[in-house]
Amino acid sequence: MANVEQLLENNRRFAATDAKGRVPSIPFLPHQQIYVLTCIDPRVDPGALLGLGLGDAIVARTVGGRVNQAFLDDLAWISYLHETKTPDAEWFELLLIHHTDCGSGLMADDETRAGFVARGFDEKTLLSTAVTEPATTVRHDVATILASPAVSPAIRVSGYTYDVRTGLLTLAEAAGQRGRGSGTA
Ligand SMILES: [Zn+2]
Repeated sequence: MANVEQLLENNRRFAATDAKGRVPSIPFLPHQQIYVLTCIDPRVDPGALLGLGLGDAIVARTVGGRVNQAFLDDLAWISYLHETKTPDAEWFELLLIHHTDCGSGLMADDETRAGFVARGFDEKTLLSTAVTEPATTVRHDVATILASPAVSPAIRVSGYTYDVRTGLLTLAEAAGQRGRGSGTA
């Protein structure tokens, strides 16, 4: 529990600052109008990679940074709120980030995957979730969002790869909006 004690101490110090008063209020618009989806991998913390601070962005994280139904549902909810509560506000940009050396790649390993399938998980889903070529999977996920009818067509979506060795992001799929094409996807 030592680590948690330290976190709670950090929180008390945070609460003593004025940072909590400088965040957007509901219905909220993040300061930088950015929405980011990355992997849960601790090396791919968007705050650190992109210099985002409290209140700057909406951040979602999934295994591999993959777009799944739960993420699409969240995006649909945010689209709905934006359209109905803040219709005149600027729309946000959505950045998808897939990275090198991703642990989701283990889902492509036959033995590892078989063991998880034995616990009741779907083989096809696992295989399609594995990020072994981040530029390919991130382009695929940008296309999935652009094809999703519940997601506002006003949201601009772009895909990046992150190299865990260099720390650099590389554009894999330029910003696209539904109905306007999405570059190479
Ligand atoms: Zn990962």
